[in-house]
Amino acid sequence: MPTIIDGKEVAAQVLAECAQEIVELKSQGITPGLAVVLVGEDPASRVYVSSKVKKCAELGLHSEKIVLSKEATQEEVLAVVERLNLDPAIHGILVQSPPPPQIDEEAIVRAINPAKDVDGFHPENVAKLALEDSSGFVPCTPAGCMRLLAAAGVETSGKEAIVVGRSMIVGKPMALLLVAKGSDATVTIAHSRTKNLAEVCRRADIVVAAVGIPNFIKAEHIKDGAVVIDVGINRVEDASRKSGYRLCGDVAFEAVADKTHAITPVPGGVGPMTIAMLIKNTIKAAR
Ligand code: NAD
Repeated sequence: MPTIIDGKEVAAQVLAECAQEIVELKSQGITPGLAVVLVGEDPASRVYVSSKVKKCAELGLHSEKIVLSKEATQEEVLAVVERLNLDPAIHGILVQSPPPPQIDEEAIVRAINPAKDVDGFHPENVAKLALEDSSGFVPCTPAGCMRLLAAAGVETSGKEAIVVGRSMIVGKPMALLLVAKGSDATVTIAHSRTKNLAEVCRRADIVVAAVGIPNFIKAEHIKDGAVVIDVGINRVEDASRKSGYRLCGDVAFEAVADKTHAITPVPGGVGPMTIAMLIKNTIKAAR
């Protein structure tokens, strides 16, 4: 039987550590503050933003939610970022992705003060990750995946790992974390142009799926005894649910789980970790 890696439990551990740090910082007169900027009305983004703000409130963090209309201009978004950069009560700034098409997301990310870039997307933080300079911010989702591997006691050193997906949010930073000194995995990054993906994946002891296609990774991609981390969060129609949809991962869990040594479920795997690591980054920014 595979180990089902419980992201809710590991996230609760991370948040318990955070709660202690927050008490400590508050005793020094510092309340970590996070600003979350939402542009437009993307339903998934609204859910993410609300849950981030709610988690801040639960933990006694200061938070500010700024909602701009879907017609907001680049200048308006930049003006908000500029104000937050200068606000001493705000230590972390996050602009929820994806913004509407008229917004140049890259330029917005570059405008965030790197010392407040708790998403870890600013080029300065990307460079620090590549340089293994721990003073930067690591993107929350891959940082959460690493924490899950550690919590499940998965040895990465010398192991073959594959990251399926090369986005700057998940795939690339995940690969950098796995290959970094201390993790020491041998890493392959696969993407939409990779040939013979199943064959390449079957070499891996650790498979991280960040593709954005429901149930994309199947049993044929997985070697017996591999560890599988499913980053995917996909909405699929489900008439039996009140909402009309359910969440499913990038991995065909039912078909794959029995072959694995350990696997993360969706929901309840990587998802809860992202927000926990965001809180952790906000505390780091406040420090
Ligand atoms: P993305 O669309 O930016 O990147 C997807 C990647 O998959 C691309 O690099 C592409 O090359 C690769 N890909 C597409 N088709 C492929 C194929 N046929 N074979 C191999 N590779 C292929 O997505 P993303 O932002 O990296 O997100 C990936 C998934 O993770 C999505 O489901 C997203 O919702 C989820 N996600 C979850 C969290 C979380 O908190 N758990 C956070 C971010 C993203």
